[in-house]
Amino acid sequence: MDIFTNIQGFKHYLGTLKPQEKSVGFVPTMGALHEGHLELIKTSKQQNDLTICSIFVNPTQFNNPEDLNKYPRDTASDIAKLQDVLCDVVFIPTVEDMYDEHRIVNFHFGYLEEIMEGRFRPGHFSGVGLIVTKLFNLVKPNRAYFGTKDLQQLTIIKKLAKDLLFDIEIIPVETIRESDGLAMSSRNKLLSREERKQAVVLYNSLILAREKLNNQESVISVKKYISDYFESNSVIDLEYFEVVYTENLQNVSKIQKSDRVSLCIAGYLGKVRLIDNISLF
Ligand code: AMP
Repeated sequence: MDIFTNIQGFKHYLGTLKPQEKSVGFVPTMGALHEGHLELIKTSKQQNDLTICSIFVNPTQFNNPEDLNKYPRDTASDIAKLQDVLCDVVFIPTVEDMYDEHRIVNFHFGYLEEIMEGRFRPGHFSGVGLIVTKLFNLVKPNRAYFGTKDLQQLTIIKKLAKDLLFDIEIIPVETIRESDGLAMSSRNKLLSREERKQAVVLYNSLILAREKLNNQESVISVKKYISDYFESNSVIDLEYFEVVYTENLQNVSKIQKSDRVSLCIAGYLGKVRLIDNISLF
């Protein structure tokens, strides 16, 4: 596996690739890699001649400095995992490499950043838009892989790619879970042993909500049930539970059989923020 730790060397390498010969799949990550990330790499490997992964804890997408400082980092173990799945190239730039001190470019994604993650993490998606645009411009992949675990991010990246005319196919990859159902996340590493056991309540509540909706209970009553549930007897400090159309993340008030709908949830377990979503049906 080729490892690049600065833009110059990486650019030079990319310049040696002949576009007509190789299809390039790109998997941007923030490291602390787990099976979820590796699934993206494996999917890219199946669909492309060359797979490039980036590892960069992007400061501009953290609205909370403490969250940025404590974000797990383990580059040596990440490299070993990428080697195991035969990733071809990894790019691990520094903050100085990726950002000029005086950043003035910002992104705004309208409605998509006023809801859910955007509402609770102001500026987060501007930072995501910025780093993904930089990386897309640098790597110029044919395909880029994003997890449906971060459904709102995926929706925003699709819009970004379309609006900015990136000639890149955005490929969604299903959420990989632990055996109890907890969605894999780098942040799970920050949970204590006790919290780790409790964390599955987030997923279980989504399953329960799905059952209720499939049994024709109304969206409004299921939303109330979930918010009451977390208020009265859960270790999770709920930020939101939303029922949205998967395509555009608009709120659903009444579910029709043919609709593609997702249930999205986020909350704090102690100091660790967790998110998850599942689709209906
Ligand atoms: P992150 O390192 O958290 O920024 O994630 C990098 C990519 O991996 C994003 O596209 C995430 O949506 C995706 N990802 C994170 N967790 C999972 C998971 N459990 N299953 C599948 N993809 C995931």
